[in-house]
Amino acid sequence: MQKDQLLTRRRALLAGVVAAGAAGTAGVLAVGTGEEPARPAGPAAGAQTRRPLAASAYRLQPVTGYGPPRTVPGRPPVRRAPLLRVSGRGRTMVLTFDDGPDRRYTPAILDTLAHYDVRAMFFVCGGMAAENRGLLARMADEGHVVGNHTWSHPMLTRLSRGRIRTEMERTCDIIEKAYGERPAWFRAPYGAWNRAAFQLGSELGMEPLAWTVDTLDWTSPGTGTIVHRVENGAAPGVVVLSHDGGGNRSQSVLALRRYLPRLLDAGYHLSVPRRHPA
Ligand code: ZN
Repeated sequence: MQKDQLLTRRRALLAGVVAAGAAGTAGVLAVGTGEEPARPAGPAAGAQTRRPLAASAYRLQPVTGYGPPRTVPGRPPVRRAPLLRVSGRGRTMVLTFDDGPDRRYTPAILDTLAHYDVRAMFFVCGGMAAENRGLLARMADEGHVVGNHTWSHPMLTRLSRGRIRTEMERTCDIIEKAYGERPAWFRAPYGAWNRAAFQLGSELGMEPLAWTVDTLDWTSPGTGTIVHRVENGAAPGVVVLSHDGGGNRSQSVLALRRYLPRLLDAGYHLSVPRRHPA
């Protein structure tokens, strides 16, 4: 990949994110520094949110009010529990999609997000990412955040430390190749965390992020049920779990088209946490 392409991707990435400081409270990820304008109501304001942020401005964004700056850049603390929600100004929510990318569903999800000028997080499996590198490149181009969901989606609590490391490290590597940067976030398959996962995640420069609202979309409960679960669970700081891979995710694709405009109409700001400074 050309260096300038990488820079373009980084710039696109920076343009779409809000700042996140170190979490001040266990289980809460701070999002928003006050620099991020509230999601504009008018159509003209879309251009404002798309305005690229200069790299220097990005670095200068204050983290005050959200705990002290990291003392070891790129090495998050070893947590004992994953972050479950975000905190920030206004009605901020985060949409997350796991187990992809899958060329049958992920492009449609990206199309919907692009249509509404919304950024999301994708916790990808390395094996899927290796087969769909172009989709990771598109996520980078469109400002989405890619997290690590292990290589083959095992139950980490049943693996040796060495195998957990391999699962996580290989996935960091393929994300770096296809997306252009190493991931700053990881999520344990099945939400099954253990101490080794937290320690290795920290060593690999990643924060553990779980979720607040589980759509249970993988059970194919019906599009309407998924929509209801998201809208019913919507609240400031909520992290929503859905899936764009790992099975038939057509209901997840259709549900997003219904609940996303309604969340925006309700004044929610769908955003992604900022990557911590490397
Ligand atoms: Zn998963």
